[in-house]
Amino acid sequence: MCEILDLTLPAPPAPTCDGRIDPKVHTALATETIYGPVPSRRYGNTLGLNLLPSAHKRCTLRCTYCQLGPEGKAETPYPTVAQFEGELRGALEYLNAHGDFRGMVLHGLVLSGNGETTMHPELGAAIDVLLRLRAELAPGVPTILLTGGTELGRPEVRAAVARLDEVAVKLDAGTQKTFERLNMPITPITIRSIAEAAALLPNAVVQTLLVHGSVDNTVASEIDPWLELVRIARPKRVDLYTLARPPIEKKLRSVPAPVLEAIAQRVRQELSIPCRVFAEGLND
Ligand code: SF4
Repeated sequence: MCEILDLTLPAPPAPTCDGRIDPKVHTALATETIYGPVPSRRYGNTLGLNLLPSAHKRCTLRCTYCQLGPEGKAETPYPTVAQFEGELRGALEYLNAHGDFRGMVLHGLVLSGNGETTMHPELGAAIDVLLRLRAELAPGVPTILLTGGTELGRPEVRAAVARLDEVAVKLDAGTQKTFERLNMPITPITIRSIAEAAALLPNAVVQTLLVHGSVDNTVASEIDPWLELVRIARPKRVDLYTLARPPIEKKLRSVPAPVLEAIAQRVRQELSIPCRVFAEGLND
């Protein structure tokens, strides 16, 4: 067990929609409501907050690169807000009791886990709890949501997540055709509507996973319209990353760092938006 996992907190899973991957862990589903701290490529040492059913995926997308496996049973319950509060309080009190976490600082409280967090029926109440406990037990630690963005068209969802420090919205394609091939939404929705909804948030970041292979979202016919979607979304930042390990869909491959960097340069120069790159093997 490595130093950062030597805790009584549950060992972390390896959610894949956010690049928060521990290559030593091969089961991707979270079995707890609170997990980690997880060493994240993009956010540092973060505590994972899973408002989805334990050990079952529930998502509005079916990304071809997803490593969470098939959808769980529909009747599997979400954690209650009371359960979330109790477990988050316990985890934060534990971390506080251990000082600075043996030299590591907690860099984020991240709503992620087994699918699409915004599907939780009491999302607003859960975020109330998160913000209250952050103020009490983890002041200054950023609150972050990783989302496919499909529920951002609902005003009550936007009102809830707008109170977080950051909402990272997945925009993996420039065209509707590639969005449907790569992310496979379970209900009809356009990727442009996701970008338009993100623009209504004060705290949106665009997160884009780039791949080569049977689907290639790095070609000019994808990147040109994708830049237009980013312009529409008006995020405070763009994060580009690629596969950190082989996906279930064997015909997808990671994208070399120079390709990611060239796309990032276009974001910076053509849109004047900050853009970070997380290439395979870098920034881990
Ligand atoms: S958005 Fe859903 S389907 Fe896509 S990678 Fe994340 S959990 Fe998997």
